Amino acid sequence: MRYTSTRSRCFVTSAQAIARGIAEDGGLFVPESFPQIDDAAMEKLISGDYKFRAKTILSYYLTDFTTEEIDRCVEAAYTGTFDDDTPAPLVEVKKNLHLLELWHGPTCAFKDMALQLLPHLLTTAAAKVNDGKKSVILVATSGDTGKAALDGFADVPGTEIIVFYPQNGVSAMQKLQMTTQRGNNVAVCGIAGNFDQAQSGVKTIFSDGAMKDFLAQRKMCFSSANSINFGRLVPQIVYYVSAYCDLVKTGKLRRGEPFNVAVPTGNFGNILAAVYAKKMGIPIKKFICASNRNAVLSDFIATGTYDRNREFFLTISPSMDILISSNLERMLYLLADGDEKVVAEYMAQLKSQGKYTIPSAMLAKLQTLFAGGFCDDAATQATIGKLFQEQHYLADPHTAVAVNVCERYRKATGDESVCVIASTASPYKFAQAVLPAIGEKNLPADGFAMLEMLAAKSHTAIPAPLAALRDAEVLHPASVDPAEMANFIRKTLA
Ligand SMILES: *Cc1c(COP(=O)(O)O)cnc(C)c1O
Repeated sequence: MRYTSTRSRCFVTSAQAIARGIAEDGGLFVPESFPQIDDAAMEKLISGDYKFRAKTILSYYLTDFTTEEIDRCVEAAYTGTFDDDTPAPLVEVKKNLHLLELWHGPTCAFKDMALQLLPHLLTTAAAKVNDGKKSVILVATSGDTGKAALDGFADVPGTEIIVFYPQNGVSAMQKLQMTTQRGNNVAVCGIAGNFDQAQSGVKTIFSDGAMKDFLAQRKMCFSSANSINFGRLVPQIVYYVSAYCDLVKTGKLRRGEPFNVAVPTGNFGNILAAVYAKKMGIPIKKFICASNRNAVLSDFIATGTYDRNREFFLTISPSMDILISSNLERMLYLLADGDEKVVAEYMAQLKSQGKYTIPSAMLAKLQTLFAGGFCDDAATQATIGKLFQEQHYLADPHTAVAVNVCERYRKATGDESVCVIASTASPYKFAQAVLPAIGEKNLPADGFAMLEMLAAKSHTAIPAPLAALRDAEVLHPASVDPAEMANFIRKTLA
């Protein structure tokens, strides 16, 4: 299987795609074609466990990895790191509505599903293609990616990891998770700006010639743990395949029966993995793309115009506070039937004017596959409250956005098919927003007292990794202007 850039023809192996993270032309690596799951393979996937499913799907995409390498990577990623042997359990909250809980890993957000695996894939790939160079992982995070990447890469030989986060754009718990990270190869830095500034700063540094020389002199090269790296996407395809297998196995779905998927969306990586699963033969009918008030994606689905020239809002679902949705580029590539010139043109327009419009034929295709919707903070909190009261289910704000949009889609269309909703974070990561939503008016000032209150009220347990932060020391207090990001990197690596 070969990979190419979304912006020009340049064929690479999966190891090269993962080791580099992003293509030379600024485009994203995409597979040349999609492997198909045949009936016999499907049979085995349905009866297999999560690790077996992961190994199978990985082997389809990473054809230049040996079976032993894939086995080793998957075993290391999913052994002893998640709550139990079911890293991605399905919980039916009401008829035909299943929450796919993706937050049972060490940092309590869905990013763990991919980022526990990525360091192993990346070091294996780098050993094949980077002739002994050290991989420097640069991360821009809206909150959850940063911690998940730090946890995955901490003390991994042959790697350094540097994380930038918007200093006022993440929750208190997210910030504490990052600033207390241990490991002798980690650096964490706040920026006085929002996530888009952090992300475009990182993108600029990636393609900066002087910075490349600086790294080359030190026998280092950049790579990315953001969802632009194809190594993040493959592990995410696995849990959609796995959800389908579980639905069939438990009799909730007949083999081949179409179902819908609803995803709280920011950078479009999670929902794109579901699209890739469909391309492999998983019978997904509608992709319900849920945004918060930064509704750039749901507007795009409604109108065909992607326009980032708009007010940026900080919301209670901060991991979706994004106006430049990187992985949409891979979706455009599919919609354009692999015409890289078309994609390059839209990306150029996005860069120069902050917007682009797709033609009506392409929009029709998009709308056949996708339903979009958004909700504000008040509606998000109302959804959390209703789920808690009626279903005794405690959802985090990101998940609640998807539940809200999904339920409105069902009402509006009458489409009551089985729906899998991606549940992307533990509610304990966002206690400050969740507590008032379930009727608690007087919040304690202390973040840990909030966790205890949430535990008492919901009769659930505080996730151990969050409880442990109480006694953790802040090791990374640094914060800089966006223009100073490159200097911070030089200082860190010098
Ligand atoms: C990252 C994140 C999202 C958005 O996922 P994308 O792949 O960027 O669309 C949603 N919810 C949570 C909790 C996240 O951490």
